[in-house]
Amino acid sequence: MARYIGPVCRLCRTEQKKLMLKGDRCKSDKCPINKKRPAPGKDPKARPGKRSDYGIQLREKQKFKRIYGMQEKQFHLFFERALRMPGITGENLFALLERRLDNVVYRLRFASSRSQARQVVLHGHILVNGKKVNIPSYLVRSNDVVEIKEPSKNLVIIKEALKEYGKAGVMPWLQLDPDAMKGTFMAVPRRGDITDLADIKEQMIVEFYSK
Ligand code: SF4
Repeated sequence: MARYIGPVCRLCRTEQKKLMLKGDRCKSDKCPINKKRPAPGKDPKARPGKRSDYGIQLREKQKFKRIYGMQEKQFHLFFERALRMPGITGENLFALLERRLDNVVYRLRFASSRSQARQVVLHGHILVNGKKVNIPSYLVRSNDVVEIKEPSKNLVIIKEALKEYGKAGVMPWLQLDPDAMKGTFMAVPRRGDITDLADIKEQMIVEFYSK
C-alpha cells in the first residue's frame, strides 16, 4: 500500500486522539482534536455505535502504527520479529519501534516530528557511529552515537527542532549534546519508560494479529 500523503490531522480525527503527527506544532490551539472536530464523514450529532472487540483492536493497532509513521506491511514485519523474540511480544514491539533510526532522530530533537525525522534520515543528514545511514528503519543499538553530519548542521529545520530541546528535554534512555548535535542511545527503553505512549494498549495489537 502506498504511503499516506493526505492531511495527517485527518488520521487523528479518525482515531479521535491526538497522535502528535506534526510534532511540536500539535501543541498549537489549532489542533482539530482540541476543537473537538468529529471523525471524517461522521455526523457530530450521531450517537456513537458499539464497537466489536475486533474493531477496538483494529483501531488500537492503527493508532500505534500511525504514531510511528509506518505502513501495514512493515509494521506487521516488526510485529513478527517481536513475536520471535524472548519476552512479552507487546513490549518487544515497543522496543523495536523505539530503536528505529527515524524515531531516535525525532526523540533526539533533530526533527520536529517522526515524518520530518524520516526525511532527515532519507536525505543522508545522519551519522551512526561516524558512518552515514540513510535507512529510516535501521535499528539503533545500545551506546550507538547518532549525530548530524557536519555540513548539515546549518540546516534550518534541524536547528529549529533542536531549539525545542531546552523546553522539552530528551527521554531518559537518550543523552544529547545539543551544541555538538550529537546524541547517544544509552539503552533500549523498557515499556514503562515510554511515558508519552502510556495509554497505548499493546496487548490489543497482539490479540489483533493473533486471530
Ligand atoms: Fe493530530 Fe497534531 Fe493534527 Fe492535532 S495538530 S490533529 S495532534 S496531527
